[in-house]
Amino acid sequence: MKLIPLPAFQDNYLWLLHDGHRALVVDPGDAQPVLAALQHHGLQLEAILVTHHHADHIGGLDAVRDATGAKVYGPAREKIPGPLQSLRDGDSIEALGLEFRVIDVPGHTAGHIAYFTPDVDGKPLLFCGDTLFSAGCGRLFEGTPAQMLASLDTLASLPGDTRVCCTHEYTLSNLNFALAVEPDNADLVHYAQHCREVRARGEPTLPSSIGLERRINPFLRTREPAVIRAARAHDARTTEDEAGVFAAIRQMKNEFR
Ligand code: ZN
Ligand code: FE
Repeated sequence: MKLIPLPAFQDNYLWLLHDGHRALVVDPGDAQPVLAALQHHGLQLEAILVTHHHADHIGGLDAVRDATGAKVYGPAREKIPGPLQSLRDGDSIEALGLEFRVIDVPGHTAGHIAYFTPDVDGKPLLFCGDTLFSAGCGRLFEGTPAQMLASLDTLASLPGDTRVCCTHEYTLSNLNFALAVEPDNADLVHYAQHCREVRARGEPTLPSSIGLERRINPFLRTREPAVIRAARAHDARTTEDEAGVFAAIRQMKNEFR
């Protein structure tokens, strides 16, 4: 199986997974890079997986569906242009001979879903849309801090070697923020240096892994004393509970330059 991040717009990745013959794509915000890649590799598109309703994730949906006849899957609780098969938490779908489990991850949008499959060439794989980014998380457009925290906790409980396919290359700016929160986190310092080199070569920093994100992502680390201290330093009214710390860190990120 080959996993390819197709760059689109400013900083999106449209993830393509294929076995040399058949392919699936996640969140086709733009049709052109998807159709070009299918043609380049000689692939038949079998499935389109949609995580949420934002335009940079569905803008190319109709054109890709029309050009390929691929089956479309998307969240039941969001308005996605049909025809599509609506999915809810715990549902399973089959594509490329793999079984994908649907996980509800509200917060960025109200009905956002993620897709998890346990074994692609020996490792689990997660398509998480705009919920989890490397060293960061999506903005809370339609959800509460407690909802987003619960969604991220669910993703953080997946196996450590799960490859994480996020849909934006926000890693360097997220890492700058993460370093402001946890300047003494040695894993974070090392990983930031690594990513600067990767980006200097023009390569994607993704996929990440769940194990790595647990060590470097402040939004998965709201129980760490250093993260609690940073939240309190930013806003003295921050409450001890995890949702309070999460809300303060998310607010701090919104204001971070
Ligand atoms: Zn989005
Ligand atoms: Fe997006």
